[in-house]
Amino acid sequence: MFSLPHAFKRLLFSSVYSCGELEIGESAPQSANVTLCSLTFNPYLFIYRIELPCMLTGIHILLTYACNFECDHCFLYCSPKSVGTFLLQQLRTLFEDAERITSLEQVYFEGGEPFLYFPLLVEGVRMAHAIGLKAGVVTNGYWATSVEDAALWLAPLSQANLYDLSVSDDSFHYEDQLNPAKAAVEAAEMAGIPVSTICIEKPTVKTDKDQEKGEPVVGGGCMFRGRAVENLATGLPQRLWHHFNQCPYEDLEDPKRVHIDPFGNVHVCQGISIGNVWETPLYQLFEEYDPYAHPVVGQLIRGGPAQLLREYKVDHDDVYVDACHCCYCGRLELLDRFPQYLTPKQVYGKN
Ligand code: SF4
Ligand code: SF4
Repeated sequence: MFSLPHAFKRLLFSSVYSCGELEIGESAPQSANVTLCSLTFNPYLFIYRIELPCMLTGIHILLTYACNFECDHCFLYCSPKSVGTFLLQQLRTLFEDAERITSLEQVYFEGGEPFLYFPLLVEGVRMAHAIGLKAGVVTNGYWATSVEDAALWLAPLSQANLYDLSVSDDSFHYEDQLNPAKAAVEAAEMAGIPVSTICIEKPTVKTDKDQEKGEPVVGGGCMFRGRAVENLATGLPQRLWHHFNQCPYEDLEDPKRVHIDPFGNVHVCQGISIGNVWETPLYQLFEEYDPYAHPVVGQLIRGGPAQLLREYKVDHDDVYVDACHCCYCGRLELLDRFPQYLTPKQVYGKN
């Protein structure tokens, strides 16, 4: 017997709060399950399903823009001087909204460096778990001064039911001989917390046989946005701007995950806001989301970064390293034209 996947059931049932026949969060009776061919389904789900669903499965909370580091590749321009940190009350408000989006499965706390506001981080993980979301944390691991000390930091997070810990472990953050990431990983494994590492290396140039005419490509996993453009793009192989006719990474039409910052901005890609959760609840924002009406997102969907440059007659270079480099440089030129959508300015290196 085959049952509909959990996510699909939630999809079918994800807008009950806008339907007059069921109360918010009420479940369709399980006893009504029927079998058709090899599928088990619940007819109530179909009866009450009246709107297109929100398919958001993850939110990434930028708990703070502040960071103890100032990495060359940081696409949010984070540093010790960066401003903007969630308040406890704002986390509460956000989770009250999030609870109404039934497609949501997980929440990640990141930054900046979320461990800089440790009590808030622990409370956030606890709140996420309380509404049935898996909670993860992305960290640079600076706090793991030894395995034993790292265990002290992780104990409250483990008690709050942390589901995943992702630790940066690369040459941007640490030299081999002084690497707290390894202690963080070992302590997490001892505490039974699922843990993984994130490794982004300095850009390398290599020849890829699959590339057109064996052209050189850039490796290392660095995203050419934010400070990475300022510090790492020079001297790398580049391609003509009109080649970048689609966004290679984000599903801008139907985002499955978004980043939310302390100012309330909901980013579909860092620095591209589709609304503000301190003005409009998250579930409503997604119900009303019209990607083609968004002046930046709409152009990116229609023809990628090249279309953004073309549509707004942006004064641009002939060549860029990749699509994100082209997109980011185009957006930089449009900051004053679309301040509501290209925000906050600090992620573009402006104050
Ligand atoms: S990349 Fe991460 S560790 Fe580095 S400055 Fe940005 S937020 Fe901090
Ligand atoms: S920077 Fe632009 S092209 Fe790159 S992922 Fe973001 S929206 Fe897409």
